[in-house]
Amino acid sequence: MRLAITNIGTIVSGDWRQPFAKGDTVIASDGTIESVGSASTREVEACDVVIDANGTTVIPGLIDSHVHITFGDYTPRQQTVGYLESYVHGGVTTAISASEVHVPGRPRDPDGLKALAVAARKCFDGYRPGGMTVHAGSVILEPGLTGNDLGEIAKQGVWLAKAGFGAFASAYEYAPLIAAARAHDMITTVHTGGASIPGSGAITGDHLLALRPHVSFHINGGPTAMPDKDFERVIRESDIALQICTAGNLRTALLCATLAQKLDAFERLIIATDTPTGSGVMPLGMLYTIAHLASLAGIAPELAICAATGSNARVYRLNSGLLAAGKAADIVLIDAPEGGTQGDALSAIRNGDIAAVGAVISAGEPRFVGRSRNTPATTRKISVAKCSLPPDFSGGR
Ligand SMILES: [Zn+2]
Repeated sequence: MRLAITNIGTIVSGDWRQPFAKGDTVIASDGTIESVGSASTREVEACDVVIDANGTTVIPGLIDSHVHITFGDYTPRQQTVGYLESYVHGGVTTAISASEVHVPGRPRDPDGLKALAVAARKCFDGYRPGGMTVHAGSVILEPGLTGNDLGEIAKQGVWLAKAGFGAFASAYEYAPLIAAARAHDMITTVHTGGASIPGSGAITGDHLLALRPHVSFHINGGPTAMPDKDFERVIRESDIALQICTAGNLRTALLCATLAQKLDAFERLIIATDTPTGSGVMPLGMLYTIAHLASLAGIAPELAICAATGSNARVYRLNSGLLAAGKAADIVLIDAPEGGTQGDALSAIRNGDIAAVGAVISAGEPRFVGRSRNTPATTRKISVAKCSLPPDFSGGR
């Protein structure tokens, strides 16, 4: 399928160094962005589907880098079915598993841990809830796992490893397993802050600096924050990605974002929700955190969007999160919410409002056009200007 989005008002690229792209048209073909900027009438007419953005803002699909995936579109923690499809209506086109720790009765022995990660990974290989790409299968590091175990599952496609819920006496004991996971080219992640489940101890700046993971999960607390003084140390003394989560401590989220900007470490700031958890299912969580950073921490709205898209993609090595030729065609149209005080999406976000999502395209396919089920309506009407595809009912599974 070839798809064009025309009459775009503003293009946010997802790249924090150059957050805006010029032009008014995006063309995608077979799931990949072909061009961003301008296109001739002939090129647009050759597309199967044309979406009229009517002056609204186009951003890359949001990447939530901390989602408690289990199996299927179901969260046991909140006993909710269909939550991932609901997140698509909040502009999220990619979810990255924070480990399958919520699977009821999850195994803790090496064979079980490996099987869980491999099964989760493979279950989402071709399964897209609501059109979302789900990167599942994050191995939970527990005593007894060895470097060879990690090598075995890396061969099965597992590329995420999570420290923080293992039965170790001290968090420092994760160090050899994190190093082994790194040696197998996995992205390593460490729970940060106070214990989120009984029995798991607090993980603070000293631990992060000793363990050196790729990502500090919910550095602002999940939900309980580490000491304020540790933020500057982690930023200055490491290159660890600073993941700010909606379901964390808001004050330290703002503290960390402000420091990251001041200390020239903004590229390491990434946004996620850390849901579903005890805090619930939050389909608009990414949009809330973007609005919090823009309205309370003085971060430009387009930069907050980059932290939720291109910066996540860079840290997790994904071919999405950017509106540029060759990238995955995960595209979201947003606008000022109807009835608000602001004239466009970025002004609304700066004002602290939740942007209205008017269309979501993932893997090059429109998932809905016109109105999200979960956000307010857009001020301007986004519509399908042309669709020459015959109906195709082959997508079900
Ligand atoms: Zn979590």
